[in-house]
Amino acid sequence: MSAAPQKQARAGELRQLLQRAAHAYYVLDAPVMEDSVYDHLYKELLELEAGHPELITPDSPSQRVGGSPAEGFSSVEHRIGLLSLDNAFNPADLEAWYGRLLKVLDREPATPLEMVGELKIDGNSLALSYANGLLVQAATRGDGKQGEQITANVRTITSVPLRLQLENPPAWVEVRGEALIPDDTFSAINAERAARGETLFANPRNACAGTLRQLDPKVVAARRLDFFAYTLHLPQDTPQGPSSQWQSLQWLQAAGFKVNPNAELLPDLAAVQAFFSAWDTGRRSLPYATDGVVVKLNDLRLQADAGFTQKAPRWAIAMKYAAEEAPSKLLRLACQVGRTGAVTPVAEFEPVPLAGTSVSRATLHNAGRLAELDLHAGDTIVVRKAGEIIPEVVRVLRELRPPGAVRLELPLACPECGSQLVREAGEAATRCVNNSCPAILRGTLRHWVSKGAMDVDGLGSKLIEQLVDRGLVSSIADLYGLDAALLASLERMGSKSAENLAMALAASKKQPWHRQLYGLGIHHVGEVNAKALAKAFPSATYLATAAEDTPEMISAVYGIGSEIAQSLQQWFATPANQQLLEDLGRLGLSLTAGAEQAGAEPQSHLAGKTFVLTGTLPSLSRSAAEALIEAAGGKVSGSVSKKTSYVVAGAEAGSKLSKAESLGVAVLDEAGLQALLDPPSSKPGGVQTSNKIAEESNS
Ligand code: NAD
Repeated sequence: MSAAPQKQARAGELRQLLQRAAHAYYVLDAPVMEDSVYDHLYKELLELEAGHPELITPDSPSQRVGGSPAEGFSSVEHRIGLLSLDNAFNPADLEAWYGRLLKVLDREPATPLEMVGELKIDGNSLALSYANGLLVQAATRGDGKQGEQITANVRTITSVPLRLQLENPPAWVEVRGEALIPDDTFSAINAERAARGETLFANPRNACAGTLRQLDPKVVAARRLDFFAYTLHLPQDTPQGPSSQWQSLQWLQAAGFKVNPNAELLPDLAAVQAFFSAWDTGRRSLPYATDGVVVKLNDLRLQADAGFTQKAPRWAIAMKYAAEEAPSKLLRLACQVGRTGAVTPVAEFEPVPLAGTSVSRATLHNAGRLAELDLHAGDTIVVRKAGEIIPEVVRVLRELRPPGAVRLELPLACPECGSQLVREAGEAATRCVNNSCPAILRGTLRHWVSKGAMDVDGLGSKLIEQLVDRGLVSSIADLYGLDAALLASLERMGSKSAENLAMALAASKKQPWHRQLYGLGIHHVGEVNAKALAKAFPSATYLATAAEDTPEMISAVYGIGSEIAQSLQQWFATPANQQLLEDLGRLGLSLTAGAEQAGAEPQSHLAGKTFVLTGTLPSLSRSAAEALIEAAGGKVSGSVSKKTSYVVAGAEAGSKLSKAESLGVAVLDEAGLQALLDPPSSKPGGVQTSNKIAEESNS
């Protein structure tokens, strides 16, 4: 059956793009795309070709190994083909490979095959030929059949023996391994190139490839390349030749080669997985780059039985580390309206696995970034997510843009309320300025109930959406009119959760003034500023008066400037906000600092003490514990140092607890904290009790 024209066109597109990338990578040593992007597109081509073999062309990247030999060196025929490796990107790929191997070897799964796990060094493979123990030829992999003869250059690599350290070397020996440039040498080379105004190498592998193909061996010598040997070929009649990959590595070591010390014998697939996982993190402390691990069948006879595909041995597989960058197809440009009315363009794309999670959306921040990316409908984009970092769209692969694709821009009208969007000169954000836009209201409510503000447990985004959509809430104040019966009528809300939520809302009225101020979501008034302002102006009335009459008093507060004073002035002058404050006051929110600031004697028995909270306490929420410590005059910090007075640790405490222990900082549990919080007069010996707890948990 012939492939649909769409598939045919896509295969053609991919072939062209991959060929260009491979040329830039293998021949010019100057890659034009990230390896993970190349791998992804290559996999897509393989899948297309597997489903429709008639799409395979002789020049397809799937039909060839590496690149053509470069000019400037004589080319040499490899005695034994120097192939590539098939890749496994996840445990399923590994299992599928193992299943195929068992089948080819006609083996039962019950008797596992022994493997050797080696690091996949991200360098360049070399084929070294020795005649009667003497290095006579060194060649690059080239296209797998023919490579470039670079013997003079390889002679400068000090870890390549020029003569094998063997009493009676075989008539010929062929050794394969990886030439590499360690990270520190790579940085030094690039620094020198930068100083000379030359273009920088993209990565150590490209620097190594470029170096090996230098016409002047003196330049190669100066670049201090290294070499790890991993494959051995001997004449068949060699007496006592190795019968396993493991023995080959030992043979190579005995002959004077550097063999990577991290290879391991792996009895089964579970051990292979564990080896891979250990190096997924362990690789970060290696002084050279690796891009995965290589798993090889140990028994050389079984290797010979398994044989080769056109491109790679069947008896080995490269397990690649999770990509941090990958291409994906853009599905839609969505727009989110936040609580400040700012409109954020969001790219929605086909899900891709990145750094261990599946990613399908990424923020594009603002109209400026959208224009910079030059995004078009149907574009193939490169998405990046490194570790915990939020996913981002790095760039567009223009070569894969569908013909006649429309350029994407932000809409002119708010996608939520239809009012015209505004972008003020000098501002990055495009905004909806309609105060009754439901998206702004939802954002305002989310912010009010958030952890740093009123910390209302059980009122998530979905519930807020229902409350707004049903017209039950049209301002922050309306939240306090919701009773348990009404809440219980909402979707996915049981009567128990409704009761808990009603209680949490009622309890939130007692949150301190600075949290109320932060919760109002005034432009530029974040948590830190709200605390400073609440301290200087102990009620909403004071602050409103200052904003109107003496804004200079506000700008004079440490850390607060005229921009914030102006923002407060605008906020308090808005009638809807004045109404909100009045409503909140009527509903029982104090909007005033507690007794500690409003005249009565402040509690300060913890003045000068710094606390760090970690883990989950049995009954106090993080914010409640913070509020209590601060009300008693203490300070809460986010990181542990020698100056920390106490670390309060709950369940699943993290690294802060171990740091406290290593620095000898006192550690409290919740009971210990409560004891400290009670003023000394109300509970003599309270502090002592906590110190005892601290000593116990330190031991
Ligand atoms: P490969 O690098 O994925 O794997 C094969 C190679 O692994 C071998 O040739 C050998 O050099 C090396 N290797 C390292 N340690 C080894 C060990 N212990 N045992 C055996 N071999 C070991 O395959 P490839 O065919 O050399 O190149 C494909 C790779 O090149 C892909 O990962 C791709 O990302 C990259 N590439 C990138 C671009 C680009 O534009 N960025 C273009 C073409 C190719």
